[in-house]
Amino acid sequence: MVLADRVCKSFGSVQVLKGISLEVPRGTVTCLIGPSGSGKSTFLRCINHLEVVNAGRLYVDGDLIGYRERNGKLYELSPKDAAAQRRDIGMVFQHFNLFPHRTVLENVIEAPILVKKKSRAEAVERAEYLLDRVGLANRADAYPAQLSGGQQQRVAIARALAMDPKLMLFDEPTSALDPELVGDVLKVMRELAASGMTMMVVTHEMGFAREVADQLVFMDGGVVVEKGDPRELLADPREERTRSFLSKLL
Ligand code: ADP
Ligand code: MG
Repeated sequence: MVLADRVCKSFGSVQVLKGISLEVPRGTVTCLIGPSGSGKSTFLRCINHLEVVNAGRLYVDGDLIGYRERNGKLYELSPKDAAAQRRDIGMVFQHFNLFPHRTVLENVIEAPILVKKKSRAEAVERAEYLLDRVGLANRADAYPAQLSGGQQQRVAIARALAMDPKLMLFDEPTSALDPELVGDVLKVMRELAASGMTMMVVTHEMGFAREVADQLVFMDGGVVVEKGDPRELLADPREERTRSFLSKLL
């Protein structure tokens, strides 16, 4: 579903991604870990068109992200074509970014109606199903500020799923939550993984990574230092940098 081939990204003269190569097979979960500033968010943002890569290639479901290739040359996609690629990719952020003046239901139906041109009735039906799936069927008429952080994050997940994405990106979805609220969000993500969704998850939740991920990737300094089966990597990292990072978490 995702293929990154030596992806590089710089901001001005600062190179943040220094050749990331990675495959995420369809229907699998990849967890990304690494110290702050290692480029995890930038990598997800490149996949989701929030940044444009400078070198290397990034494919989602076979589509080259951000560029069109013609006669061996690359041309940046128009905003319209980029938006079309991005429609199929859901993203959930640390801060939930719900619209504060709209109800939970309105948050979830907005994009399907505006972008996917669904009828309101169809969008509402799907939203009610998704809110039920994330355990919030009875909060459809609440406003975000009336919900806990964990509930807001579950609305954000439902909102992303309402676009029927083929890939879901999560950037530290539980990092801003009080500890007692983390479990409900992880449970929703676990169920989503079990349903066959392809997921990339930046997280510090090693229990989740160990149990749910098919692949664990350790990034540091803009490179993939090490990747592999999460249980093996956590129990016996090959690289000293991974070992040192994990010892600080535990
Ligand atoms: P992580 O998510 O692993 O903590 P980030 O991808 O957020 O790392 O950041 C990697 C590096 O890129 C950091 O040094 C950060 O300051 C820098 N960076 C990220 N976004 C920008 C930007 N828009 N402009 C300049 N530097 C940026
Ligand atoms: Mg980050």
